[in-house]
Amino acid sequence: MIGTSVVVRTRSWAVLLAVLLPGLLTAAPPAALAAECPGHPDALGTSRTLVVDPREHPRIGTMQYRETLPLKDHEVVLTFDDGPLPKYSNQVLQILANECIKATFFEIGDQAKANPEGVRKLIAAGHTVGTHSMTHPLTMNRMPMEKAEAEINGGIEWTSAAMTDPSKLAPFFRIPGLMRADAVENYLISRGIQVWSADFPADDWRHISSDRVYQLAIQRLEAKGKGILLLHDIQARTVAALPKIIRDLKARGYRIVHVVPATADRPATPTTPVEWLLHPPTETTRIARWPTVPNFVFTQTKTLPAPGLADLNTQTAHQPQLLPRKTMAQADIASTLAAPDRDLFAIPEGSIEVLLSTTLSRRAATRIAMATEGPHRGKGKAGKINARRTAAHTGPKHSAQAKSTASRPTRLATSVKKRA
Ligand SMILES: [Zn+2]
Repeated sequence: MIGTSVVVRTRSWAVLLAVLLPGLLTAAPPAALAAECPGHPDALGTSRTLVVDPREHPRIGTMQYRETLPLKDHEVVLTFDDGPLPKYSNQVLQILANECIKATFFEIGDQAKANPEGVRKLIAAGHTVGTHSMTHPLTMNRMPMEKAEAEINGGIEWTSAAMTDPSKLAPFFRIPGLMRADAVENYLISRGIQVWSADFPADDWRHISSDRVYQLAIQRLEAKGKGILLLHDIQARTVAALPKIIRDLKARGYRIVHVVPATADRPATPTTPVEWLLHPPTETTRIARWPTVPNFVFTQTKTLPAPGLADLNTQTAHQPQLLPRKTMAQADIASTLAAPDRDLFAIPEGSIEVLLSTTLSRRAATRIAMATEGPHRGKGKAGKINARRTAAHTGPKHSAQAKSTASRPTRLATSVKKRA
């Protein structure tokens, strides 16, 4: 009797669950459920998919542009550049898989050509795949358009060639070293390709510890509250830092957003124009010109001698009266920017990256980029040695510049990125 009752009750529960469970799942928040991340009940997951139309918002990322992705507070988009490089890219993929996180990868044509399987793995895992040029030149801001177009198209050609279904390639492009130029952007935009800068990097191309990469990622995210994080899936330190970053994102209540391009069958997520500004203007702040050259000055705004040179998108919070950029350029750049650290010009394993700040340093960095261009850049030890030589060559010049400005609090993060 008792036994029968238990059986009946068990069956009742089974029936009840069968009826209710689909409803419960539907009603649950969009965050990845444990069931969606088998074996990883504590996974951070991917909270939502954002569909964007590149034609409506052709340039994004407040490191350089006025607009960025329409993220809500505590939403983060992870991006990885310069792959695929199996040794590290595969580890990054595994870490993301363990957390059921979808990210965006900007692939280099040469890398895709050498490791097409790496591109297919990204697609199979459901990540978004954009491109990052053919050979990662750091001179797209000054090269003839014919050459720039060949770089863009080569990257697209080889990355899509690696795919079983080339239509999976997203019309997203990140300019190497963020060396933007109007002509390059206009070409990309004319082809319906969205130009991606970022909202903050974690300096994972520099010779810093993985712990520092983790700290920078979290600190810069916390300063903005949301945004696009720029990382590289070709660095050991990034692989080491990523699990810690993800754990901390979860602990701090951040949510991952997966970005995909709009298609005929997949309309863009409805948004309002103001959502595309990191900090929408208020009645008490006026909009000045946003920077369109990379501003890789990372410092607390309060430590700056004057507003305007630091991350200008923090202006609504800290800088009610933004000085016109020209005035700043003429008056203050030379006197307020410290020279970059020497280690910025050292070459991490596999790459050098130069991220640029002002016009002043852009010229210097372009010289470095030019110096590291050439026959040594492709392969093997010779390239690394030559690049190191170049880096060593560059150091003193910047040290000399530093003499007059070293005591300034402003920190300039400048580096040249180049695959060795
Ligand atoms: Zn890159």
